[in-house]
Amino acid sequence: MTEKKSYQVLARKYRPQSFGDVIGQDHIIRIFTNAIELERFSQAYLLTGSRGIGKTTIARIIAKSINCEERHKEKNKNPGKVVSAEPCLGCPSCLAIAGQDSTSVNNDIVEIDGASNTGIDNILELQKDLMYVPPAPRFKIVIIDEVHMLSKSAFNSLLKTLEEPPERVLFIFATTEPHKVLPTIISRCQRFDLKRLSIEQIILKLKEIISKENIEKEKIIIEDEALFEIAKKADGGMRDALSLMDQVISYGLDNITAEEVRKILGLVRTEIFDTFMEAILHRNSLQIVNLFHQETESGIDTSEFFDSFLGYIGNFLLIKLGDTPSNLTKNQMENIQKLTPHFTEDEIIYIINYLIETKNNFRTSTSKQLLAELALVKLARISDMKSLKSILENMMTGSKFIPSEPQTPKPINIPNSNSTPPKPIVTNNPEPIVSKPPTNTPPIDIIQPIVSIPIEPIPAEQAPIENTLSQNPTSNDTSELLSFKDITRSSPANS
Ligand SMILES: [Zn+2]
Repeated sequence: MTEKKSYQVLARKYRPQSFGDVIGQDHIIRIFTNAIELERFSQAYLLTGSRGIGKTTIARIIAKSINCEERHKEKNKNPGKVVSAEPCLGCPSCLAIAGQDSTSVNNDIVEIDGASNTGIDNILELQKDLMYVPPAPRFKIVIIDEVHMLSKSAFNSLLKTLEEPPERVLFIFATTEPHKVLPTIISRCQRFDLKRLSIEQIILKLKEIISKENIEKEKIIIEDEALFEIAKKADGGMRDALSLMDQVISYGLDNITAEEVRKILGLVRTEIFDTFMEAILHRNSLQIVNLFHQETESGIDTSEFFDSFLGYIGNFLLIKLGDTPSNLTKNQMENIQKLTPHFTEDEIIYIINYLIETKNNFRTSTSKQLLAELALVKLARISDMKSLKSILENMMTGSKFIPSEPQTPKPINIPNSNSTPPKPIVTNNPEPIVSKPPTNTPPIDIIQPIVSIPIEPIPAEQAPIENTLSQNPTSNDTSELLSFKDITRSSPANS
């Protein structure tokens, strides 16, 4: 590898160069190393996954491995013997691919950035280039990054090439948005979905890199919780983790603490949300608003605050559903476990929906701050919904609350009656409940629900509740679980 005098950012310096360097994508690496060792190639591969996850990196390693001169020599020496797929990293071909950007002398590899070369002209030029294929055993390897950005005419032109690919030409496409790639293209590719890295995997890699850096130059002392914050913010991408690490290191601290990392990266302390949830429990709107102000005044962006709150509250749901969140430290987990029993599953879903709704409204709002405050104050009134729930329960057990007209369009079924099948209660239409309040009912301050009024599943007979919230928020619903697993990952930066 070439030694450079100027500072090289960590993401570039520690970019994986061989299959062994790649972490968290074992399933894909295994398939590719097998294919290369047995020389059984597909004409096209499609690598998908979020940004910074290593799609282009893997594509380059594949290219290096297939055209590595040392591997070819090894094979010639021992015909019939399986030669490891790992590229040598030292031959002219490997070196050319590693320094791809400007000094490439390797015409075997064509790299196209789909984002800036979207037109048909670029594909026509590529097709001309494909007429010159290197002699065996080398391959012409075409890597098209962000392939979904190609224009329709470019796609169609590319499709023709894929239908009748020249000998020893191999395509590797990379995309963050596979749904935008024409199905006819996808059907001609072997598709691989790259996984986001877990927090533990990122921390482990960061530690490895820090120890390498510490051997090379001055000491970087960073506490484990600080690494945890960086890994959480990176949201499964090693490149982002290293960029964040660079940002933190360049601050020039002797000892990097979690508190400093949060300050530098503008992250919210998870513990703030514990206090927040307690304030919601105690209906303390003032404390909620004060906590929010305290954070925004310290430089936290409102959207970042909501993203972090969403990430935090998603853990409540996972715990309710019997799963274990992976983005919490031991202390954070203990605190959340203490708070979770005080909220029902529906209340948590309500909070999540409400936060998402508010966050979406930020885009069109002229006063983000006010909208946020309003939303947070409303969350403090979530216990009002509890009282509504208890009144509904009263209505179901006490005869006084049954609507007098039997022909009411939305009747409420009494759960004790086993003989008749339960009918849905439409909770987002409060008409039958509110329009005729019983005289002894205390006045209820009903929140106009954003999604609907959450009601705990009625035990035993369990009448289905027809509202958007309760599209079966039961522990059996794995679709909810999957979606909230996504939410609990720290959200991408909004800057
Ligand atoms: Zn090589």
